[in-house]
Amino acid sequence: MKPIYLDYAATTPVDPRVLEAMKPYWNGEFGNPGSLHSFGQKASGALFSARQIVAGAIGAKYEEVIFTGSATEANNLALGGVMRRYVREQLKAKVKNPMPRIIISAIEHESVLKTAHDLARDGANVVIVPVSKEGVVDIKKLKEALNERIALVSVMTANNETGTIQPIAEIAKAVREFRGERVWPLFHTDAVQAFNYVKCNVNELGVDLMTLSAQKIYGPKGVGCLYVRSSKRGNFRTYPIDPVLTGGGQEQGLRSGTENVAGAAGFAKAVELVEASREKEAARLTKLRDICIRSIKKIWPGAKLNGDAKKRLPNNVNMYVPGKSAEEMIVALDLQGIAVSSGSACTARSPEPSHVLLAMGASKEVAKNSIRITLGRQTGEKDLAAFLAALKKLR
Ligand code: PLP
Repeated sequence: MKPIYLDYAATTPVDPRVLEAMKPYWNGEFGNPGSLHSFGQKASGALFSARQIVAGAIGAKYEEVIFTGSATEANNLALGGVMRRYVREQLKAKVKNPMPRIIISAIEHESVLKTAHDLARDGANVVIVPVSKEGVVDIKKLKEALNERIALVSVMTANNETGTIQPIAEIAKAVREFRGERVWPLFHTDAVQAFNYVKCNVNELGVDLMTLSAQKIYGPKGVGCLYVRSSKRGNFRTYPIDPVLTGGGQEQGLRSGTENVAGAAGFAKAVELVEASREKEAARLTKLRDICIRSIKKIWPGAKLNGDAKKRLPNNVNMYVPGKSAEEMIVALDLQGIAVSSGSACTARSPEPSHVLLAMGASKEVAKNSIRITLGRQTGEKDLAAFLAALKKLR
C-alpha cells in the first residue's frame, strides 16, 4: 500500500512547479545578489521578483518583506527585534526602566513562546494571555494587559495543533486604538499555518509584523519571511525593529547573511500557487475534514474534537480518543503506512503533554490521548477511507 501522509501541519512536500522555479538558482544562476557583476545582478533580479510576489500577496511593499532562514527565525526577529529597538530608544530617552512589556497568547508556537521566555530572562515583562476552552484568545484579558510599557503583542493567526483561527483583525484594532499616535505597541502575528487557507492581507488584518514559512505551503525548507511595516522619512524607509543577526546588512539591514535565492524563488512560486487555489482547496478540505471528524466519533463514541469546530483551519482534525495514548496510535498507524501526529512536530519527541491543549483547560489524560490529523493537497477521499479503516483496527 502507498504510504498516506496526514501530517501536513508538520511540513508539506515541495510542489513540482516550485522545484522547477528553484532549479536555475542552484548552479546556473548561482551569483551572490550582493555582487555588482552580471552574475550578481541576475541573482538580485530573481530575489527582487520573489520579494515582489510575496509582498503583493500580502498587500505589503516589497521592501517590507524580510527573507529569513525559517519561520522560527522570523519569530525571533519579531520579538527580539522589537525588544532591542524599544530598549535602545528608552535608554536614549534616559527612561528609568527601559524594559518593555510583551504580550503573547498561551498557545503560541515554541518559537514565540520560548523566545518570550528568553526575553523575560533578559528583563522583559512577559504577559501570557489565556484562551477559551475552544482555544480562542481572551481579548478582554489581552486589553487589560496593555499598559504604558507595552512594546509588542503577538498572537498567531491559526494554531498549529488545533487549527483554531484567532480574531486577528479584532485584536489588531484593539492594539491600534490603544496605541493612538504612538509607535508602541506593535502587533505581530505568526501566520505560518493560516496562509494556505486564510487570506493574509496585512492591511485588512491591521498587523505590523507577520511571519510566513515556505515549508508549510508546498515550498522548500529553510526559508521564511517577516513582514515589517515601514514608514518613509524623506528618501529613507524606516523600520520599527532592530536586527538580531548583524553582518553584511542584507534585507534592509534587518537580516544579514547572503540571501537564499533559490529558496526565495521557490517560496514566491509556492505563494502564487496558494493564491490561485486557496478558496477551492479550502472548500474541498473542509468537506473531507468534517467527514473525518464525524467518522472518528462513530468509530470511537467517546472521541471529542479539540478546538473550535467552526473557527478552524479546513485541514485540521485534532481528536481526543479515550483509552488510547497518542504515541500508541501514531506507532500503530505508522505500521499500517499512515503518518499522523500528536501535535507540534517540534515537541513530538517530548514527554510533556501539549501546552496548547493544557491552556485550553484539557486534562493531562486528554492532552496525552489526542492525535492530530492534518490533510493537504494530496489527500483524497480514498486516503481518508484508508486512514479510517486503519483506525478502526485499533479499537
Ligand atoms: N510557527 C508555527 C505556527 C508553526 O507551525 C511552525 C512550525 O511548525 C513554526 C512557527 C516554525 O517553523 P520552522 O520550523 O520552519 O521554523
